[in-house]
Amino acid sequence: MEGIDDLCLLQGLSKVMHRKLVQSLSIAYDLPNLGIQRERLSGTAVVCGGSTLTSISGLLIARICSDHFENVTIIEPEEWLLTEERLNPNPDQIFIMKTISNPRARIPQWPAAQGFDASLTLVLEKLFGPEEVKNEVTEAGTKPGWELGTLYFSEEASHSRPSFRRLVLKTKNIQQLSGKGDGLVAQNGALTGVKRRTANGKEEIVPATLVVDFTGVALGGFRWLQELLGSTSAAAKQLASLKETFNNKYQAVSCFFKLSDAVIDEMDQAGIPGIKDNGLQHIFLPNLNADTRSLVLSSSEKNILSISCCEYDMQEEIERMDNIREYYHNLVMEVPLPKYIYTILDILEKHRVPFSKYAIRTPYPVYIQYAKAKGLPSNFIAIGDSVMQLNPIKGQGASKACAEVVSLNKLLLDVKGNTLPSDFGQNFFKLQATRTGGLWSVCPTTLAHEAVLKI
Ligand SMILES: Cc1cc2nc3c(=O)[nH]c(=O)nc-3n(C[C@H](O)[C@H](O)[C@H](O)COP(=O)(O)OP(=O)(O)OC[C@H]3O[C@@H](n4cnc5c(N)ncnc54)[C@H](O)[C@@H]3O)c2cc1C
Repeated sequence: MEGIDDLCLLQGLSKVMHRKLVQSLSIAYDLPNLGIQRERLSGTAVVCGGSTLTSISGLLIARICSDHFENVTIIEPEEWLLTEERLNPNPDQIFIMKTISNPRARIPQWPAAQGFDASLTLVLEKLFGPEEVKNEVTEAGTKPGWELGTLYFSEEASHSRPSFRRLVLKTKNIQQLSGKGDGLVAQNGALTGVKRRTANGKEEIVPATLVVDFTGVALGGFRWLQELLGSTSAAAKQLASLKETFNNKYQAVSCFFKLSDAVIDEMDQAGIPGIKDNGLQHIFLPNLNADTRSLVLSSSEKNILSISCCEYDMQEEIERMDNIREYYHNLVMEVPLPKYIYTILDILEKHRVPFSKYAIRTPYPVYIQYAKAKGLPSNFIAIGDSVMQLNPIKGQGASKACAEVVSLNKLLLDVKGNTLPSDFGQNFFKLQATRTGGLWSVCPTTLAHEAVLKI
């Protein structure tokens, strides 16, 4: 009897521990609370640095803050993305160019083919409603059922990506101001506003109750905080010392093909899975001890097929079809690629389907360990790439942003009364470090050649 009691006790304890770990390390229990309406906190959440409607974290943050604050203001330098033309883009335009140019000054990966796992879908569906999301995305040409797997697209070669922007635009208490975030204003340990510089050089202060930095690789908040703290002060120096980076030579070449109906039919008859209903997806990731080349094939919408070749310190030139074939040949594989991957090349080659490409060498990833910072304003937080950029070999940037915004929602739901507590920012950064900070430690080691540096 005693043995059975002990076993029950152990089982009970392990269940409690399991629940506690899931609760603290993941967003599993917080996800259902997204979109809960509450009495809004007074004032304005200034989502600063970037367009909510163009960057992943910005898009989600603006929507979440709209549930918690009277108003949400976005400061956006690249206003042109809200023009009708960009909200309903014509991806065919990229096929005019052999080499795709990047219209975004601040997002180097903008036109690259990217994959987003189901966590993005789960968050979008909670925030906007499953039907709304489905309608927007399928209207844009993505096959029904996309939500079950990874969704691939490039910002320039996609009908569906701007649909997320269109969804945010429908939210009533979100306004957007053009211009650059250019600094912070504070009083008694809390921020009171964000400096905004307009295109004609005018500066004004936008009042803020909460400031959310998501300036991505520009690291706006990191610079502005140092200025605010006085760049020679101990607090500013301590903050500066929390930046880690590593020398990453990761390169990615995305090749986009526009397929005619006849080519799609031929591929279908040749047994290419999913080609007819925009469902083709194949990812090859290498054993990093042997090679760093990876390959992604996808046709997730309309008649666009992308083949992405990614590698650490890439030596191959990807200019022509035979270069892609050569790249396949150079892949070090433990399990060979399925035959149909080669059949795709054969058919593309047979019909001389040209491709437009976008090549990127990634910036050095950075991690600002805000959770260790001292003396930060209580109502400043940072999310997405403005805190940590991941090694792109595994994607994950959007999933990380999802975990962070859901965590922010949890803390905002916990706020009692009408104002943010004085430890709000600190608590956010602690939770962020617990849930997503660990990704940094596996980031450089995915490529054994790199060492983390403090700069
Ligand atoms: C080659 C490559 C491939 C990748 N592939 C994947 C993938 O497959 N899957 C995945 O999930 N992630 C991937 N990522 C990572 C992913 O792209 C990023 O994590 C994601 O874009 C981060 O979103 P963000 O909103 O934080 O920043 P961003 O998307 O960089 O947005 C930052 C915003 O801030 C604005 N901004 C900058 N400075 C200012 C200022 N002073 N004032 C106002 N606004 C400002 C910019 O205009 C921009 O709108 C990849 C990254 C790279 C480099």
